[in-house]
Amino acid sequence: AKLTGTNRFRDHSGELDATAAHHAELAAALRRGLDHGEFRLVYQPIVELPTGAITGVEALVRWQPADGPVVSPAEFIPVAEHSGLIIDLGAWILDQACADAAAWHRRHGAGAPRVNINVSARQLLDPDLPGLVADALHRHRLSPDRITIEITETAVFAGGVALGTVRELRELGVGLALDDFGTGHSSLTLLRTCPVTTLKVDKSFIDDLNGTAEQEAIATSLSTIAATLGLRAVAEGVETRDQADRLHALGYRYAQGYYFARPSPAEEIDAALAEMALA
Ligand code: C2E
Ligand code: CA
Ligand code: CA
Ligand code: CA
Repeated sequence: AKLTGTNRFRDHSGELDATAAHHAELAAALRRGLDHGEFRLVYQPIVELPTGAITGVEALVRWQPADGPVVSPAEFIPVAEHSGLIIDLGAWILDQACADAAAWHRRHGAGAPRVNINVSARQLLDPDLPGLVADALHRHRLSPDRITIEITETAVFAGGVALGTVRELRELGVGLALDDFGTGHSSLTLLRTCPVTTLKVDKSFIDDLNGTAEQEAIATSLSTIAATLGLRAVAEGVETRDQADRLHALGYRYAQGYYFARPSPAEEIDAALAEMALA
């Protein structure tokens, strides 16, 4: 392996080496990357079934180090959380996503997608988060209903303060989505106390949709829970036409996944919206 820059964190197969010794160095590389503008956002459409019309997009962060291949957020978000860099990185993500949301709203008006922004456990434990969100909305002259904050069940359970922060976020008027729904431990208890507006049904339940009665019953009940509580359900990780058809038949109205669109840069989303307006 090359012993310079970010490549020093990779083993012979190109995987990041996540041992403790490299952790601090990776954290430092992330810090430099943030200072040098090496992060960017891509957006994955959330579509309406069965038409496939774009109703929203989820912002997903990418790290492109100057001296190596793109690093997946699954690899660097945990390190950013652990080192605390997620606070500064999260602030950049929030600002960039609001800037793009505002630009789409200016260009496409009512046809502009709502923008979903992922917030990690560490960010939710930061009492300044609601203020930060309010400030970003204000600076970009963005109405709160144009964005949805995605949180996970584990993040809300991570500490007592988090639920208060979640309520403050909701009071701002932003949407709140519970990500990876169904994979946590106390989903139903949480739904009674946590003011979410959307449930994102985890990909694992969508993968299993191969037509057996039992698996269809689980997917159906997850969407029924959402409907009963007046929440929208979004099916995550839809990869095939067959899954999309089944989900529609089971009552799902919203879906996201490679079958519809891969995450792509803001300019490509913009072009897709322009095309949609002409159609
Ligand atoms: P997530 O929030 O559950 O995001 C969905 C992930 O599934 C994304 O991976 C997306 O590209 C991927 N995906 C979407 N459709 C499909 C599909 O049809 N098949 C498959 N196999 N995958 C699909 P990505 O972008 O690598 O992000 C991974 C995770 O990293 C995210 O999971 C989220 O937990 C975290 N993450 C990404 N961006 C951010 C961010 O801006 N802030 C924070 N805090 N975390 C982020
Ligand atoms: Ca998410
Ligand atoms: Ca998810
Ligand atoms: Ca996930």
